[in-house]
Amino acid sequence: GEGTVICRLGGDEFAILVAGGTRESLGRIGEAILGAAAEPVRVGERELYVGASIGISLYPEDAARVEELVRNADTAMYMAKEAGGRRYIFYSSSMKERVSERLELETSLHKALELGQFELYYQPRMDADGKRTLGFEALIRWYLPGKGYIPPDLFIPLAEETGVIHAIGDWVLRTACRHCAAWREAGHPPVFVAVNVSPRQFEDPRFVERVEAILAETGMRPEWLELEITESFLQRDRSVVAGMLRRLKDRGIRISIDDFGTGYSSLSQLKNLPIHAVKIDRTFIRHIDTDRKNASIVSAIMALAHSMNLRVVAEGVETEAELRQLRKMRCDELQGYYFSAPVRPEDLRSVRETPGWRKRGSGSGGRGGMTAQIGD
Ligand code: C2E
Ligand code: MG
Ligand code: MG
Repeated sequence: GEGTVICRLGGDEFAILVAGGTRESLGRIGEAILGAAAEPVRVGERELYVGASIGISLYPEDAARVEELVRNADTAMYMAKEAGGRRYIFYSSSMKERVSERLELETSLHKALELGQFELYYQPRMDADGKRTLGFEALIRWYLPGKGYIPPDLFIPLAEETGVIHAIGDWVLRTACRHCAAWREAGHPPVFVAVNVSPRQFEDPRFVERVEAILAETGMRPEWLELEITESFLQRDRSVVAGMLRRLKDRGIRISIDDFGTGYSSLSQLKNLPIHAVKIDRTFIRHIDTDRKNASIVSAIMALAHSMNLRVVAEGVETEAELRQLRKMRCDELQGYYFSAPVRPEDLRSVRETPGWRKRGSGSGGRGGMTAQIGD
């Protein structure tokens, strides 16, 4: 309309300045934009779906200065995103507190690496019988003095948004490789290490070279490394994705799909990608011994995955009954609190093939109140 300014703030963020609107009229504009953004976009042969999240801030009720208005709109947009996206939300002052907390966390996050506040914990991946440790998944922990442990589900998205994920991702990979190489060096039986990689890390066209440099630097062999990526990564440009995965695979690095079943991808989308394994999300593993629905979802995934020569890993195995059921279903690998919570590397006193993953009562770290030790 008359007097409306549309501008691009950067990346995929836009600002629209509407003069003389009311809450109602702004709401209607919001609806209209969401409706337009929901239309599929044809690109060559394909239809792409994009969406939008909108935050609205009002002058003069919310702020008098333009910087603050934009910041408030951004805050509200963030809330819209958090609420699942594809909606508009009006700014309210109660959002401010959450945002200042977020900002504080963001500032701390930027300093966390140099202050050495990150640690890597390890959780074993077991064979189908749950007897032998095949490898370990590296899971990052952030100890923020005064606040305690900040869960990765909270700060990884923040790190992704701010771009610090590249530095953190390098640190995780370097540390995990160093540990794994040291275990081998010390003569422990061979185990692999699985490292979570954020989709954003793959945006770096030099990601494969970064991985190679870290392998070289730490003396880690590519065959000992597995990278876990989530399905959301498949939503990106397929030919670029496929190219990078292929290069990683050619070097001997394995790729697995994490949290499988929670996203929008299907196994058929993995068909032409060099994937080694799918890790079925723990929400499907829960009570698999009694939950009929979960059992049938998992056996369907498993049948298809096996027909495509993919290994299947079950995440979040918590009980013996779940373990028994999964063994019956011919699941290839198992991971979960039943075997061990993630623990500090020094608590994996020796990494050797042993059925003796002793479970203790609550111990240091870990969420499950269970620490593991290898011993017999
Ligand atoms: P994920 O990769 O799916 O990791 C598994 C998560 O499930 C871990 O949570 C682990 O502690 C938890 N878990 C393991 N066994 C059980 C179980 O039996 N029951 C239940 N309820 N939970 C179990 P955590 O360590 O809090 O990590 C959460 C997520 O944060 C990870 O999910 C991963 O997506 C992300 N993350 C962790 N470390 C890194 C990292 O170094 N880089 C990146 N990019 N993401 C990471
Ligand atoms: Mg993972
Ligand atoms: Mg997972």
